[in-house]
Amino acid sequence: MFHLLVPHYRVESVLELTAERLQQWDITALLLDVDCTLKRYRASGVSAEVADWLSELRRSGVGLCIVSNGRGQRIRQFADPLGLPFIAQAIKPFPLGVRAALRKIGAVPQRTALVGDQVFADVLAGRLAGVKSILVRPMHPEEEPWFTRAKRIPEQWWLKSLQ
Ligand SMILES: [Mg+2]
Repeated sequence: MFHLLVPHYRVESVLELTAERLQQWDITALLLDVDCTLKRYRASGVSAEVADWLSELRRSGVGLCIVSNGRGQRIRQFADPLGLPFIAQAIKPFPLGVRAALRKIGAVPQRTALVGDQVFADVLAGRLAGVKSILVRPMHPEEEPWFTRAKRIPEQWWLKSLQ
């Protein structure tokens, strides 16, 4: 059961997920969390580096879809300028939103990874949906609301126990 909380891969930042590396891992599509994964919690958009990274992956033919627990209006305003399809109110850690994203972009679970910063939402949702899970170090977690920061304590404990 605990394997559901173990990411397949861990990286410092999404920028490490180059097209070459994804190819090595046999990953052809990424489902992307938004807050603290693609952008800082309080920012409205992504950094220039993340925008370039997204363009590069798209050029390389990697399938991309946003999967966020955020509300539709906010996620639409984030995803539309980037030209990315999205599933909002995905209710991660439940796998329904992840499955909806797979259908939306026609991706196969075996060659898709969910990229996110939270073990108890992103890793679990990805595992339950049967995709690979890539855990990134959260961008500026000190900006998050208290209920998310509260989850960081057991999360840190769990990640330390994996080492
Ligand atoms: Mg997040």
